[in-house]
Amino acid sequence: MTQVLCDYLRVWELLRSVTLVPLQPDRFVWEWSADGSYSVSSTYRAFFAGSTLLLGAKKLWRVKAPPRVKLFFWLTLHRRLWTAVRRKRHGLQDSDECALCNQEPETGVTGGHLFLGCVFARQVWFATLRPLQLSSLMLAAEDDDVGVWWLRQRRRVDSASRPLFDSLLLLVAWSLCKERNCRVFRRPHSTVQDVARAAFKEGEDWAMAGFAPMSVLASLWSQNGDVMEHNSRIQ
Ligand SMILES: [Zn+2]
Repeated sequence: MTQVLCDYLRVWELLRSVTLVPLQPDRFVWEWSADGSYSVSSTYRAFFAGSTLLLGAKKLWRVKAPPRVKLFFWLTLHRRLWTAVRRKRHGLQDSDECALCNQEPETGVTGGHLFLGCVFARQVWFATLRPLQLSSLMLAAEDDDVGVWWLRQRRRVDSASRPLFDSLLLLVAWSLCKERNCRVFRRPHSTVQDVARAAFKEGEDWAMAGFAPMSVLASLWSQNGDVMEHNSRIQ
């Protein structure tokens, strides 16, 4: 009852300054456009009223990668990565140690450790970036947010190679996440060499599925031919 009275007084307050003009017909006013007229474009914009911007979302939309991988990375940007620290906090496991390196806690709900800080991950990165002459990008991987790191590092890559780098980022992050899950669910472990080899193979599958940057990547990896050679050296 109190709420009804409050609403009534609120409406009273709002209408107090309104003066009705006799004989003038009512008209509809569309509040989402400046002139009060309805338009489809203003309706579309209204859908996004109050929405917040997600760092990297627009660029991720344009990355050439399978939808399931883009969804995985989108969830990571949304801080939805189930790190060991988070799993421990929710009582799902006893340890917060990273399953890839067994050296540090797996922190960073946006992939800070799993994709950037982990020594195992960094070896996979070097193995996949080196044939593309992009391994220097990993030297500045001190970020705790893979989205921030991605957007900054892609500016260091020439514009023609950015689609390559974008697709590669998703491929390597996806490969690392799969290897982490294998270890968490007690499936057979893979070495750095195996993970890089599997990423290389999956990249070829993406290329065959029509994701153009992967065709270039697969070709560069093959031409340089030292992905596996380098991996064997770092094992
Ligand atoms: Zn680790």
